[in-house]
Amino acid sequence: LIIEDEIKLATLLQDYLVQSGFEADIIHDGLDVEAWLASNQTSLVLLDLMLPGKNGMDICKDIRSHSQLPVIMITAKVDEIDRLLGLELGADDYICKPFSPREVVARVKAVLRRSDGTDKPADRGLLLDSDTYKATIHGNDLHLTAVEFQLLKVLSDQPGRIFSRSVLVDKIYSDG
Ligand code: CA
Repeated sequence: LIIEDEIKLATLLQDYLVQSGFEADIIHDGLDVEAWLASNQTSLVLLDLMLPGKNGMDICKDIRSHSQLPVIMITAKVDEIDRLLGLELGADDYICKPFSPREVVARVKAVLRRSDGTDKPADRGLLLDSDTYKATIHGNDLHLTAVEFQLLKVLSDQPGRIFSRSVLVDKIYSDG
């Protein structure tokens, strides 16, 4: 689902996604999102930040309050991304305008692979043994410290996800 009020941009994204084998629908008004999601099967949302009716941040929060539906947020400003990360809205990825539609399609595929669990660290030769804190890649010991091990574990559990520093620190130290 593409939620974007710039009609040309939304249509361009839709064309690229359809060419890549996806079904893609467009919503232009933030107020229409909830009803649409309630009555349609959706695999992923591309969510513009500035929208009429309801902004992307609020929509993301609404979605996260009841589901793990993958969300990629789209913003017009690079420095907005820092602010959005700080708010920890739970989006799966962030894309800055102007973007290439090809890049968006690549990010969509990456987020979908992650969310359906087909993108496992082991597929990339990485093995993490949480009992011994031993990390190996293609059988070679990486000789990590405990903190390095935990950091790698958190990052590799959700490849491609962008973490804010505070979330990373929480995750590493909450495991002891
Ligand atoms: Ca907009």
